[in-house]
Amino acid sequence: LRRPLVAGNWKMNGLKASVAEFTRIVEGCDGPLAAEVDLMVCPPATLLSAFVAAAAGSDVAIGGQDCHAKPCGAHTGDIAAEMLADAGARAVIVGHSERRCDHGETDAQVRAKAEAARRAGLVAIVCVGETRAEREAGQALDIVRGQLAGSVPDGATGAGLIVAYEPVWAIGTGLTPTNEDIAEVHAALRAALNARFGSEGEAIRLLYGGSVKAENAGEILAVPDVDGALCGGASLKAEAFLAIARSY
Ligand code: 13P
Repeated sequence: LRRPLVAGNWKMNGLKASVAEFTRIVEGCDGPLAAEVDLMVCPPATLLSAFVAAAAGSDVAIGGQDCHAKPCGAHTGDIAAEMLADAGARAVIVGHSERRCDHGETDAQVRAKAEAARRAGLVAIVCVGETRAEREAGQALDIVRGQLAGSVPDGATGAGLIVAYEPVWAIGTGLTPTNEDIAEVHAALRAALNARFGSEGEAIRLLYGGSVKAENAGEILAVPDVDGALCGGASLKAEAFLAIARSY
């Protein structure tokens, strides 16, 4: 029903020299792997065009890491969804916790960015996730349900939108929730999507992100309602990223 997706978020990493490492990802994405799982890499904006060129003719999609809600205008330093699409991106991450924390992005802003992605013909990867304090206070489900309700636009479809559950305390820390905790959150997200979007909600993929690596990918990707992974650090090395994809 839902095709698995292994996506890499390179964050603020990568110079021109890194195109060679990305090319190894492209070369490793052979027919049998591409038949099983969708692959995507989201480089920094400076490398978008180079990665699009390196991935040409392959099954590896390229995505952006953020976009502005408006299509153009006086917004120094920002990048419109239309610009990402023009550069060859097929998707864009919106509402990553590093954007929510470092740039104070609200659910309403994330939703506007997801709507901008749709306007530009890009798939929006909407991120949600609780902090450590919120989990310890027993609020994880309420927090992610609230972020989902506020950040996902009306009319979302399985073809146009993906949700990534990334517990903030698991990002870059080597810590991961238990498989039971991941299953609980994904079941809650799935139920909320189904309640809001009906059968279309059933088609929206749910990725897990936060310290996914080759060693834990197999068990995490086998958790019910986990349709793939959004990897940070592990996506910077072709060997690690491909090993995660192959653990399907
Ligand atoms: P790490 O895989 O480095 O923990 O990062 C996860 C993430 O934030 C992906 O968007």
